[in-house]
Amino acid sequence: MKIGVLCLQGAFIEHINILNKLGIETFEIRQKKDVEQNFDGIILPGGESTTMGKLLRDLDIFDLLIEKINNDMPVFGTCAGLLLLSKEIANDHRKHLATLNVVAKRNAYGRQLGSFNTVEKFNGKDIPMTFIRAPYIDKVGENVEILSIVDDKIVAVRQKNQLATAFHPELTDCYDVHKYFINIVKNNIK
Ligand code: GLN
Repeated sequence: MKIGVLCLQGAFIEHINILNKLGIETFEIRQKKDVEQNFDGIILPGGESTTMGKLLRDLDIFDLLIEKINNDMPVFGTCAGLLLLSKEIANDHRKHLATLNVVAKRNAYGRQLGSFNTVEKFNGKDIPMTFIRAPYIDKVGENVEILSIVDDKIVAVRQKNQLATAFHPELTDCYDVHKYFINIVKNNIK
């Protein structure tokens, strides 16, 4: 199993470190040729969604990524990665890959609550969650399973091969969300 991590900007090293600790082979996605090789899953890290969206377009990776995701390539987006995947962003005229059937709200917790830590359920089990100028999900469409709710807001979802969290599991020492993603990847390998 080989998982690519989008390394254009943001918190990508942390994802690579966790995957490596879990014994998973990783590689960095920095340009189009990286996306053209064979691999089994991809992580879109946190950072700044507008910048990452622009770089994906500038580097001509954008359409290829959409095609792969629509062809069942497992993808895991954290925070800005969730925004990249969202079909719509309620408070931003931009949208990016738009493969995930949700409406997200960007910087949704305001300035005061820009960053916070909590412990809440992910897929039924308590895990630590770190939020940094995080989005949340306002609405989910068809086929979207809700995996976490914090303060009445949806913060983790799955739609078939797509997993997205508003929080940063890569910034904690709990690897449950990564293990959950690795399972999606495993089950997708024919
Ligand atoms: N606020 C960022 C955005 O809108 C996301 C923050 C994050 O990834 N930690 O893209």
